[in-house]
Amino acid sequence: MSVNHDEEYLVALRTWINASFERAAELARGPLEPRPCPVCGSPQVGHLFNNGNLDYSRCEACDHVFMNPWFGHRPVDYSGHDKLMNQFFEIMQRYRTRPFEERQANAGRDRRISFLRRHVPDGARLLDVGCSTGDFLDLAALFYEVSGLEPNEKTWAIASRRHAVHHGYVEDLPRDQVFDVVTLNQILYGIKDPAAFIQALVPRMRSGGRLYINTPNADSWAVRLFGGRANHFEGFAAMNVFTPGSLQRLMRNAGLRLVTLETEWLDVYLPDLFEWLDNPSAFIHKRNVQRPDYIQDMKDQDGFLAKWNEPEFLHERGNYLVALFEKP
Ligand SMILES: [Zn+2]
Repeated sequence: MSVNHDEEYLVALRTWINASFERAAELARGPLEPRPCPVCGSPQVGHLFNNGNLDYSRCEACDHVFMNPWFGHRPVDYSGHDKLMNQFFEIMQRYRTRPFEERQANAGRDRRISFLRRHVPDGARLLDVGCSTGDFLDLAALFYEVSGLEPNEKTWAIASRRHAVHHGYVEDLPRDQVFDVVTLNQILYGIKDPAAFIQALVPRMRSGGRLYINTPNADSWAVRLFGGRANHFEGFAAMNVFTPGSLQRLMRNAGLRLVTLETEWLDVYLPDLFEWLDNPSAFIHKRNVQRPDYIQDMKDQDGFLAKWNEPEFLHERGNYLVALFEKP
């Protein structure tokens, strides 16, 4: 992924990630409960790795990767009352890379939008679940009839200035609303019970309607290399990190059929690799701004990757899963 190269932003984010490690350490002191696979229910799970504080398992039946044991009785609070979570949204707001008008002017080149437009005709009714401050809706609104759903009252207040955004969870949506396409941008990994969540979403899709997923990939090259220190496992928020197999299993169980699944972003940088080898205790994936010349070296690699036609084997294990499913 082309990273935001603003030094102040990287320092603020690194500081926040270190605070999230402290929260993870506090949660790891317990109590914690073991759990079966949240996708297929199988109790046959093996220890995969530790993220510095918390353990992750891999399901032997469906390949799913998930936090285990976990603090399920104390789920992460996305409602806007958790100070640490609010600090994250504040950093994201403060260091937005480009102004609204510029982002809209380039909407057609956004990877999420161009993917959707290959599969969903313009004018469709779109619901973005967990829309946060509405950045994706700003772009999608140029092509679709959009609405959002957001539980955090602070980010909801920002998004609802520009779009029709429901405050709350899937069960809070008006009963009579169904959509041509539902989008889940980087939210599935944080959801406590993904099977129940998808089951609740399906009635909100029309027959023939589509579900777009963009979520961390547990089978990426970056995860193979950095294990529990890869960005997807930082801190305490990653409850479920899907593989191509477990994502398809989740959707099949909810009665949805696969349209297409691909991966994107290599997310393996040489400056990160050097820090990983030189100073592993300070390593934070894509945030090693303490390293001399880090920002310039990351920019150089991004510039190289933008021009380079990545070979097929790199594409197959990108750091994010991008998939589309259909309701029969
Ligand atoms: Zn499973």
